[in-house]
This record gives sequence, C-alpha cells and structure tokens, in this order.
Amino acid sequence: MAYEMRAEYDAEDGAVRHWHMVEDGGVRALCGRDLDPGAPTQSADAWGSEAAEPFCHSCGALYLRQVP
Ligand SMILES: [Zn+2]
Repeated sequence: MAYEMRAEYDAEDGAVRHWHMVEDGGVRALCGRDLDPGAPTQSADAWGSEAAEPFCHSCGALYLRQVP
C-alpha cells in the first residue's frame, strides 16, 4: 500500500493545521478524518521531516504500525 500526506488546512487563512497520512490518492486519513480532495499533498518520503510538521499524532502512530 502506498501512502502520501494530505493537509488539513484552515479554509480562511490557508494555514496547514495538520498533515495526515492517507492512502495514495485518498481523502480518508488513517486517523479517520475526511480531508478535502483539493487539499495539498506531499510524498510520504517527507514523513518525519520538518516539511511534515505539524503532523497528526494519531496518523503517525497508525502509520508506524502499517509500515515496517
Ligand atoms: Zn490524522
């Protein structure tokens, strides 16, 4: 299964609230939150880097369990 990060962002000022982990091309985060299909995404390779901050803690814990 391939994953990517998708942003949960503030609709008013466009600031990223959290990065969530979703299945590649999906909008349902691992933590269960439905994200905007138009929200920005970035490669899962950036997970754990500054580019992925602030990262959703629930997604982080679940992602660690999915990826050896
Ligand atoms: Zn999440």
